[in-house]
Amino acid sequence: CFHHLKNQEIIQEQHLGQGTRTNIYSGRLLVRGGGDDNDDNDNNSSIRVVLKILEESHEDIALAFFETASLMSQVSHSHLVIVHGVSVKRSKNIMVEEYVEFGPLDVFLRKEKSAVTPQWKLAVAKQLASALNYLETKLLVHGNVCAKNILVARRGLEPGTVPFVKLSDPGIALSVLSRNERLERIPWIAPECIDSGAPIGNAADQWSFGVTLLEICNNSDLPMSSSTLSEKERFYQQKGRLAEPSSQELARFISMCLTYEPEERPSFRTVLRELTEIKNPDISPIETLPDVNP
Ligand code: ATP
Ligand code: MG
Repeated sequence: CFHHLKNQEIIQEQHLGQGTRTNIYSGRLLVRGGGDDNDDNDNNSSIRVVLKILEESHEDIALAFFETASLMSQVSHSHLVIVHGVSVKRSKNIMVEEYVEFGPLDVFLRKEKSAVTPQWKLAVAKQLASALNYLETKLLVHGNVCAKNILVARRGLEPGTVPFVKLSDPGIALSVLSRNERLERIPWIAPECIDSGAPIGNAADQWSFGVTLLEICNNSDLPMSSSTLSEKERFYQQKGRLAEPSSQELARFISMCLTYEPEERPSFRTVLRELTEIKNPDISPIETLPDVNP
């Protein structure tokens, strides 16, 4: 379960963007400080948070939203974002989450692509793999791994520093999203998650991890971003393969994750071990992204 936060404990500030059936705001969470129990505001301090406000929705969507908050409240890992709790105000459901200063990795990479090095990218890949390995050992599935959902806590661009990233919460479970919303998530969503009503396994995260690595290698430039839903659907139906990065080591690695057979994808235990063995990655973005060519 999760922590219930009172409405008076949260302050909403500026709008940061929209997610899957959510609106996101920065805000503050009041935390009672000081030793005495009087109502002096000076004894209270606040921390910066993100408020994810769920759109007005059906009960099943709200339940899925709560389940995610509950999942995130059960886990604790340095590379997973902290969920402080949920606030319910009449029909308004708000997930309160740690504010991660430098924002989503996709935007960061587009902006800083000339400053990030292959070592930087490898460090980020290892941190992501360690969070996913942790979830795997707990038999938990994230279900929404993509660069947008990786948040940059430390830039690591200055000499002698390393980046630090945190994987965000997955949001509403895939199983309750509409089919079109799932198609929209091609190529990040694992192919077996488009239709199957079966429970989503860890192998789904392995596919998404492969796509996210590719996204990182290519500075957030992925093919299919402008494809229509039916083009995306056809790509999976025809078992299309995404263009691989120039680095031989990573290409082999990424294609292992991007196999249409879930059982053939490597576990995060293996992924983490193999990533650790790569010493000098030769990650350069592919020159031109070929058209989707299944
Ligand atoms: P989804 O479930 O599809 O990921 P979401 O509700 O998580 O949806 P996002 O699209 O991931 O929404 O996030 C919207 C924007 O909010 C991001 O682009 C980013 O700018 C900002 N954001 C989200 N989480 C955080 C965070 N923890 N810290 C700082 N900014 C954040
Ligand atoms: Mg998100």
